[in-house]
Amino acid sequence: MRLAAIYEDGPYGTGVAAAIEANARARNMPLVLKEGYAATAPDLSTLVTKLRRERPDVMLHVGYNPDITLFLRQAKAGGLRFKALIGHGAGYAQIDRLTDTFGNDVNHFYNVDPVGTQMLDWSRLGPGVADLAKAFVERYQAKHRVRDLPAHASMGFNNTWIFLEHVLKPAVRKTGDMSPDALREAALEVDIPIGGTIQGYGGEVRPARPCDGGPERTRLSHGDAVRGWQGLRRVADRDRRRPAGAAAAVLEPLRGPLVSDAPLLAVEGLTKRFGGFTAVDGVSFSVAKGEILGLLGPNGSGKSTTFKCIAGMLKPTAGSVRFEGREIAGLTADEVCRRGIGRTFQIPRPFRNLSLLENAVLAAHYGAGGAIGREEAKARARDALRLAQLPDDPGAGVHGLGAAGLKKLELARALATQPRLLLADESLGGLDAAEMRAAAQMLKRIRDERGITIVWVEHIMGVLLSVVDRVVVLDHGAVIFEGAPQAAQEDERVAEVYLGPPESRAA
Ligand code: ADP
Ligand code: MG
Repeated sequence: MRLAAIYEDGPYGTGVAAAIEANARARNMPLVLKEGYAATAPDLSTLVTKLRRERPDVMLHVGYNPDITLFLRQAKAGGLRFKALIGHGAGYAQIDRLTDTFGNDVNHFYNVDPVGTQMLDWSRLGPGVADLAKAFVERYQAKHRVRDLPAHASMGFNNTWIFLEHVLKPAVRKTGDMSPDALREAALEVDIPIGGTIQGYGGEVRPARPCDGGPERTRLSHGDAVRGWQGLRRVADRDRRRPAGAAAAVLEPLRGPLVSDAPLLAVEGLTKRFGGFTAVDGVSFSVAKGEILGLLGPNGSGKSTTFKCIAGMLKPTAGSVRFEGREIAGLTADEVCRRGIGRTFQIPRPFRNLSLLENAVLAAHYGAGGAIGREEAKARARDALRLAQLPDDPGAGVHGLGAAGLKKLELARALATQPRLLLADESLGGLDAAEMRAAAQMLKRIRDERGITIVWVEHIMGVLLSVVDRVVVLDHGAVIFEGAPQAAQEDERVAEVYLGPPESRAA
C-alpha cells in the first residue's frame, strides 16, 4: 500500500507528518510523497499535480481550514484519484460542512480527529455525560444562533468538563485546596484509555469488510464512519481473518465516558466447553485498575481455562471479556498481548540457548508487535529483568536458573511486553516456602511500583492471601466465592472445596 502525506507546515502539521512517516516506516508502507505547504497558500495545484504523478493508494492530510477545502476543490478539479483520504485535524471532523460543499465525494474520507460532542449518540455515553453534552449543545446553538457547532467548541467544552470534574474536584477533596501541586497530582491521575481522547470519548479503527466497489471506490463511506461515531448501528465487520482493504477502516465509538470507574477487566458469563464437558461455566468477575486479584480453586476447577480464554490461547464458547472497555474475547494471543495483557506460563519454557537478556528482548518485540527498534526492545528487556531481580548483563544465561529463577524469567518476559494487566499462572509451583514469600512480595512490588494490575491464578491459598486485595474462588467451573481474602478463609463453601465436607475433616 502506497501512502502520501501532505501537511500544513506549521508545528502542528509538521509534528503529525513526522509521526505518520515513523509509523509508515515501522509498518513497511512506502511513503511516496511527504510534502508541507503554507496553510495560507492561495494555490495548491502543484501539490495536486505531484500527487497525480505518485499515485498513492491512501492520502493522509493534516490541515486547517480553509486549506482543506481549497485542496479538496483543486484535487477534484485536477482529477486526482485515491482509494482513501484520511484527514487529521478538526477541519475534517466537520463532516456536515464538507458534505454541504462536496456532496457524495466525501464518501471516500476518513477522519481521525475527535468528533464534536454534537455528533455522538448521547444514549451511549456514561451516566450524566449525555445531559451535560445536550445542555452544552443547546446553549451554544441558542447563543450563537447556529445549528452546526465548530469542532473546537466541543473540544474546549469537554476539556473544561474533565478539568472541573476529574482534576479540580478530586484535588479539593483530597487536599482541601487548589494549589498547583494538588492540581498537578490530580491531573496525573486522570486515565485516558487506549482509543480514548482527551475529550472524554474516542473512536477505534478496525478492519472492515472488503471493498466491492472496484479499485477507485470504497464501500465504506465517511457517512458510515460518522454513523459509527454516532453509534447508530454497527459498521465494523469483526471478522479479522479477512485482510483489511486499502481503506478498510471504520470508526467505532467507545462506550461510556472517558474517565470512569469502569473495571480494567470485566469477564461476563464466560463459558468454555470441550466437547460435551463444560470446563468453565458462566464465570463472571471484574478486576479494578491497580488491584491484585487472586483467582483460586482446587485442581481442575477451571482456573487455567479461564486464564487461557482471557489471554487468547483458547476461544471462549460463550461470554464476554472486556479489557479497558473493549471486547477482546476471541482475539488471538498475540493480539491480546499487544492490547496490553501480559501473561506468564505455568510451566516456564524459555529459549535455553539464549541469554536472559535475549529472552526478554524477544518478548519485548512480541509485545510491541514488531513496532519497536532494537534499542527500545533492549531497554524494555533490561527494565523487566531488573524488576524481576534478574541480571541484565548479556552474559547471564538460562542455565543454572533454579525453579525460582525460571519463574522470575517468566515474569520478566511478561513484563517486557509492557502490560497494563499481568496474568500470572501458578507462580508458586515448585517453590519452597521462602521462595513463595519472595515471589508474592515481588508481585506486590510490581503492582505498587508500576501500577500494573494483576490477576494471580493459584491453587494453593497460603501466601497468596497476604498479598491479594480480593479473591475469586472457582469450583467445577463456577464462581463459588468472591470477596476479601480474610472472608475467603472463613467461608464454609471455600473450606468445603479445599478441605472436603466438615464431617470428613480432621479435628
Ligand atoms: P485448573 O487450572 O483449575 O486446575 P483447568 O482449567 O486446567 O483447571 O481444567 C478444568 C477442567 O477442564 C479439567 O477437568 C480439565 O481436565 C478440563 N480441560 C482443560 N483443558 C482441556 C482440554 N483442552 N480438553 C478437554 N478438557 C480440558
Ligand atoms: Mg491450572
